Amino acid sequence: MTITTQKTFCRYCHAYCPMEVDLEENTVKAVRPDVNNSMYGGYTCIKGRQLVEQMYQPERLTSTLKKSAAGHETIDSQQAFDEIAQQLGAIIAEHGPRAVATYNGTYAFQNSAQLAYSRAWHNALGSPSYYTSVTIDQPAKVFVGTRHGYWGAGGHFFEDSDVSLILGNNPMVSQYAPPGGVPSVSPFERMRDAQKRGQKIIAVDPRVTELSRRADLHLQIQPGQDSALLAAMIRLIIDEGLHDIEFCAAHTEGLDELRASVEPYTLEHAAKLTQVAAADIAEAARLFAQGPRGVAITGTGPEMSENPNLTQHLVASLNSLCGRYYREGETMPNPGVLAAPGPRRAQALNVPLAWSVEERARSRINPELGELTTMGMMGPVTEMPTNLLSDEILTPGEGKVRALIVVGGNPLLAFPNQEKAMQAMQDLDLLICIDAYMSATAQVADYIFAPKLTLERDDVTLLADPWYEEPYSQYAEALVATDHDVVEEWEVYWELGHRLGLDVVVGNRHYDNAEKPSKFELLSAITAGSRVPLEWLRDNPGGHSFPEHKVVVEAPDQDAGKLQFFPEGVAEDFARATQAVPADERFNLRLICSRSKYVLNSSGRSLTLLKKKMGSTNPVQLHPDDMASLGLDEDCLVEVHSSHGTITGVARAYDRIKPGVITMHHSWGPLPGENADDKVREFGANTNRLIDNLTNTQRYTGMTQQSAIPVYITRKEQAA
Ligand code: SF4
Repeated sequence: MTITTQKTFCRYCHAYCPMEVDLEENTVKAVRPDVNNSMYGGYTCIKGRQLVEQMYQPERLTSTLKKSAAGHETIDSQQAFDEIAQQLGAIIAEHGPRAVATYNGTYAFQNSAQLAYSRAWHNALGSPSYYTSVTIDQPAKVFVGTRHGYWGAGGHFFEDSDVSLILGNNPMVSQYAPPGGVPSVSPFERMRDAQKRGQKIIAVDPRVTELSRRADLHLQIQPGQDSALLAAMIRLIIDEGLHDIEFCAAHTEGLDELRASVEPYTLEHAAKLTQVAAADIAEAARLFAQGPRGVAITGTGPEMSENPNLTQHLVASLNSLCGRYYREGETMPNPGVLAAPGPRRAQALNVPLAWSVEERARSRINPELGELTTMGMMGPVTEMPTNLLSDEILTPGEGKVRALIVVGGNPLLAFPNQEKAMQAMQDLDLLICIDAYMSATAQVADYIFAPKLTLERDDVTLLADPWYEEPYSQYAEALVATDHDVVEEWEVYWELGHRLGLDVVVGNRHYDNAEKPSKFELLSAITAGSRVPLEWLRDNPGGHSFPEHKVVVEAPDQDAGKLQFFPEGVAEDFARATQAVPADERFNLRLICSRSKYVLNSSGRSLTLLKKKMGSTNPVQLHPDDMASLGLDEDCLVEVHSSHGTITGVARAYDRIKPGVITMHHSWGPLPGENADDKVREFGANTNRLIDNLTNTQRYTGMTQQSAIPVYITRKEQAA
């Protein structure tokens, strides 16, 4: 048999590493990094290299399933679409379109057509019940910038920075960093090259991580105290006159009020809160202010911790204070390949608040919260706060969610308050999952659609388009035809919309009851007017850089706004942070919920090598001193108690954290109602049982605290 080699890119996560695939007719024989790709330099991670097993392993779902008294049974997908459309039609007729909801989880983001098509489908249906994982793990950085303001030409990129301040982000494991952070594209190499150029990297993290070990300065902060650290840095920078005075005078408002708000955060006070030496805080502040180029960014850690709205506001303020933006006449490295051309101007943009209430749906649980808006490729996109979805399902009355489509997500392991999430899933009239595996949530679903995997579908690097350090893109055509009854995520929506008679509009293209578009046609509508035509990318396999599409920043126009240091809500955010309820002394430890490099949230545990590396549980990792003082042995069972609940875990010594801090990987564990104690060594424990989703929620986003959780630990006596 002849082996042919084709180019593609991995879609296991959003780093989209380029790969070469060896095919024997229609069978994938091997995958390897595309070493000829200059952007990635041959980088892949251990997860992506399991692609062949992922495609052919017996655990993969390859047909549509329907729940029956005997369990889940195979059903033809067209039959399932007919049945579901009939049930949705009845629900909509009786309860209105809001009763039908979507939750787009991690894998919804890996199919380049899913988000745009499912959002358009909801628009056609008239249902605001549209949710994504953005509002469950990092809404503040996406939305809070609308109150501070955005700079038209964007912030400095990593590769032309002199200094980077990185809070709670470890792209060597998460393969994620917002623009300005260490690129998830070959992060080890990018960081090494930057430091060789003389760039200084300041890591702020309660753990010693792959990134912090290589950083020039590591502030091993007490979990949940990022806002205190930032406030102290801002105070010092203003007081020592290290900020960009000219930029602030020209482009910002509210500096005096911000300075007044950070007055309590002296170095000594911040040192007490953060448990970082005052001298180290001062050194970090001066090093960052010295720049002259480089930005502060956060990962998921500070977002899931205490005071994320304030933390993100202070991060944005620190960048503005130091004027860390591209200015008129400078070259902005990447305006996006798949975006339509347009000027990038050296000015603050006037943008409406993401949570403006005008004509937006409100939450039935907390009317102060409602649809949040962000800018998508085709204009504003709205979504409801995911943290309230369980309650939107369980609360009776008009607008109650009765049917839910879960796309590549696993609410039963990922939503705060796992017991409530379970009640919610069981309360639905109709639960549909699109998942390649029998996930915890799929186990309770009425229907499960099996999705096409990476090599079975076309895709383009749409999600990462603005994250690259230079204009870059790759289109990958489907390389393998499949006989399985598998569908793309967006096709589920097309099939249901077709049967419900919806006129779905993507860009200016209508997808009504006519023939289903091809993936390429759909992606062409989503990227209409792009700097590089999609046809060219499709016809030229492999990844490509387009340095000719860098743009020179233009002069401001008449609509220039001001970046806001003290917009609405910041006074309340400071008050909340400084008047925190005194800690209950019983809860003497802080639990950080983190990721493993061997699984992506709840995915990857059935792959042989990843399972071997990761093990079958997410241990409770404690500092050796805490192990000793609590009388714990390696691998003994412990109970972790929070003010909301208790979970059982397996204790392990871990010296990359300080005493008083413990860490566990999130999105593990069995279903609620199953005997968690018996299964902890087999499935791990779910940290979301320690969290109430309606306690300690943030304004605007409804986000609850899912990390830096106050807990205490007891040894669990095992039955004789
Ligand atoms: S980093 Fe992400 S995209 Fe790259 S190989 Fe790993 S899983 Fe695949």
